Amino acid sequence: MPFSPLGLSSALCAAAHAAGFVAPTPVQEGAIAAILQGRDLLVRAQTGSGKTAAFALPLLQLVVPMGAARSGPRRVQALVLVPTRELAVQVADVLKGLASALVPVPKISVVFGGVSINPQMLGLRGGTDIVVATPGRLLDLVDHNAVHLNDVRTLVLDEADRLLDQGFSEELGRIVGLLNTQRQSLFFSATFGPQVSALAQGLLRDPVRVEVADAPDTLPDIAQSAIAVDTRARTQLLRHLIQQYGWSRTLVFVATKYAAEVVADKLRRAGLDAEPLHGQLSQGKRSQVLDDFKASRITVVVATDLAARGIDVVDLPVVVNYDLPRSADDYTHRIGRTGRAGQAGLAVSFVSADTEAHWRLIEKRQGLDLVLEAVEGFEPTEVAAHPTHGLVDMSGNGGVKGKRPSKKDKLRAAAASAAAVDASAGANTGAPRVPASPSFKSTVF
Ligand code: AMP
Repeated sequence: MPFSPLGLSSALCAAAHAAGFVAPTPVQEGAIAAILQGRDLLVRAQTGSGKTAAFALPLLQLVVPMGAARSGPRRVQALVLVPTRELAVQVADVLKGLASALVPVPKISVVFGGVSINPQMLGLRGGTDIVVATPGRLLDLVDHNAVHLNDVRTLVLDEADRLLDQGFSEELGRIVGLLNTQRQSLFFSATFGPQVSALAQGLLRDPVRVEVADAPDTLPDIAQSAIAVDTRARTQLLRHLIQQYGWSRTLVFVATKYAAEVVADKLRRAGLDAEPLHGQLSQGKRSQVLDDFKASRITVVVATDLAARGIDVVDLPVVVNYDLPRSADDYTHRIGRTGRAGQAGLAVSFVSADTEAHWRLIEKRQGLDLVLEAVEGFEPTEVAAHPTHGLVDMSGNGGVKGKRPSKKDKLRAAAASAAAVDASAGANTGAPRVPASPSFKSTVF
């Protein structure tokens, strides 16, 4: 199906083709026409499904580039809110890329914290058509009288569940209070917990719901593995896997900024091109690490959950959960950095005796049933000292109690090792689709 039946102008259809989009993705098919009709939307689509263009294309049609005729200084027609600076830059780049072929070209501004506010204030002078912003800096700009939000006709929340949860709720509440009540609101996310859904409902008017996450043929092609390993052996195992399987680029998630620094440092000392990525780095450094990673100038990034959402690294083959994510939703976002735009990907989670109970909860919430595998030379020996350490009960009904590996688990791990040996002898090829349980060594890269 081409883009034109969705109601997009021929200029925007041409812009989509120029961006390499031959046909709309399912989320684009579901969202674009409804957005053009002025409806509110609640869209749940997995990351990598083309969500950004699903709102960027119709938004560019809805805003009328006003140029010198903007209704007043510092006015804005459409506001896209995102939770991180990296995502702000990325979303603005998509908008600017698609907009560049339009005549006249709509003005798109991007604002985020961690850098000087002055150039952003200057950039907003004379108004702008679309602002892409992180909430805190947007409010700073409002407080500096650099931007007025009461003309915003379309509000987009990208990674809406993150923006609606507690960390942003105060800022979001203030921003929404500044907007015109007669606006169109579009909420996009890969995950919507029940609480967030209820909050979203309060902000949307009779929304069209678009859900494409669960259609089997739209699931990203991500093979998932869980490897049992001792906590202290994780860095060596990571290095071993990267080298053994020749992973061209690896995004490694850890729990803290400190861990990001330490693990990246150890990998660097072992001869790998690794860099940390976390919120305490300067904005310049953060952008540079991401740019270098995207351009394959570095091969390993060790990141906190800062990099878990929305970040689009084309052809990223592997994501490793060195530390497990806090929740099943965070797991979804992290592994969604790979297997994007139809590419195959691999997500590997390291599970220690202490984190196994937590892993079982994530697995349960994800509907997975993975064999906890062992890699030769890295078979775990630890027993759980603090079986509930770091355990977050996500089940809402008591969850699974922390436990040491049972006899059954040990048997499963032994069976997995045996299967892995068979596989490495040439028994298996090809990466299975989610939610298959690949034997780790059988996953081909
Ligand atoms: P997103 O989910 O917005 O992060 O997009 C994931 C990737 O899909 C990006 O690299 C986009 O360039 C790509 N993409 C978006 N729409 C299409 C499309 N219609 N056809 C092919 N690729 C697309």
